[in-house]
Amino acid sequence: MSTDSPKTYYVKNYGCQMNVYDGERMAEMFAAKGMTPADEKANADLVVLNTCHIREKAAEKVYSEIGRLRRKDGTKPVIAVAGCVAQAEGGEISRRAPEVDIVVGPQAYHNLPDMVAAVGRGERVVDLDLPGLDKFAQLPARRKQNASAFLTVQEGCDKFCTYCVVPYTRGAEISRGWNELVDEAKALVDAGAKEITLLGQNVNAWSDGEQDLGSLIRALDKIHGLRRLRYMTSHPNDMTEGLIQAHGDVEKLMPFLHLPVQSGSDRILKAMNRSHSRDSYIRILDRVRAVRPDIAFSGDFIVGFPGETDADFEDTLSLVREVGHAQAYSFKYSPRPGTPAADMEDQIPVEVMDERLQRLQAQLVVDQTAFNTATVGKTTEVLLERPGKLAGQLIGKSPWLQSVHVLAPGLSIGDIVAVEITDSGPLSLKGEYLMRAAA
Ligand code: SAM
Ligand code: SF4
Repeated sequence: MSTDSPKTYYVKNYGCQMNVYDGERMAEMFAAKGMTPADEKANADLVVLNTCHIREKAAEKVYSEIGRLRRKDGTKPVIAVAGCVAQAEGGEISRRAPEVDIVVGPQAYHNLPDMVAAVGRGERVVDLDLPGLDKFAQLPARRKQNASAFLTVQEGCDKFCTYCVVPYTRGAEISRGWNELVDEAKALVDAGAKEITLLGQNVNAWSDGEQDLGSLIRALDKIHGLRRLRYMTSHPNDMTEGLIQAHGDVEKLMPFLHLPVQSGSDRILKAMNRSHSRDSYIRILDRVRAVRPDIAFSGDFIVGFPGETDADFEDTLSLVREVGHAQAYSFKYSPRPGTPAADMEDQIPVEVMDERLQRLQAQLVVDQTAFNTATVGKTTEVLLERPGKLAGQLIGKSPWLQSVHVLAPGLSIGDIVAVEITDSGPLSLKGEYLMRAAA
């Protein structure tokens, strides 16, 4: 069977910010080929599901989505499964979901236009090569950007935490080159970005062989028109002295650090192969706080890792109380096929995981609410990023990554404004517009 070449596309992203970045690059590629974005999946000639394999639920969602793509009249769009489910499950996807035309891994998506053309010739295509960083050189130039943009600087992971699929789906740690990153950051700013978040599975493992992420941040700091820098997700073992110092010296580097810890129990951290301890993690936070006293911390947590006892879980709760996170992501452990933890004895029953997750999240909400409440009455700068629900309302981010709702008729997305925080909840703040911030 052959099909007309698709005129419209829809890219649906699941999972992490790196997938959001990859999805944006795919859309830019299709636009460069003259295709236009569809307003919804149902109207698209080509649908890309850019998938996540980190937890079982995330992977299963993809299969139900594929089933929903068939239209009432029996036709269907060209369907491409990209991302980490594609990498992990490969050809199995086409067997389980025969309507899928293309299976493409996260390092090979620059080949998508050719693959779509092959589908037009009646072929089914699978490309799961992990050719390092080839794709970046082949992607089109950056186009119009949101006020806050993502920039992938590093891919892959060599840490092999025993629960995690990333080293298998994204391959070994590899860093993009200095010049190429500075150029892409400048292009993002020229295209309208005011803030850039540097991305990587282990973003602070970025190195060009000589310089660390702290040096790259100092270089990007000089870009005229760029107002804010952030980075995520980082690993405790890659918090170099240079990067910590950058938090003290670089004003554009926002006072927010997402540094996953996963557990507060040394026994569990060892079983997870995290290669840091509870104490070494806390000492890193102390060092960052010493150079940037207003820093806010965020983290990732897994409850119910195999063998986790009540006492181990209490250690996690006590670490959470000690740190007082401004935000956090917390998950039930999900056994992933092919990872060492999936074969460990003493898997924790789901009811126990549920109960622990509820208790952990209750504590995290208390801390997040307290952090937000403490900003009420303060004046802070907000980067306006999107419209709110009310007329004249815009929603932006504080330096500490809090969502702030501002009634600001006459202001535009991309403005950075001084705001007095007037009210707070666990998830967002309200603020009163005072004036535009100096450029
Ligand atoms: N590289 C980062 C680090 O080590 O901190 C994390 C990247 S990972 C894509 C994002 C988060 O997913 C992890 O920090 C972890 O909390 C969670 N995660 C990974 N594998 C998981 C699993 N098998 N079950 C539950 N959560 C998992
Ligand atoms: Fe996964 Fe992060 Fe561990 Fe790498 S460091 S294996 S990405 S959790």
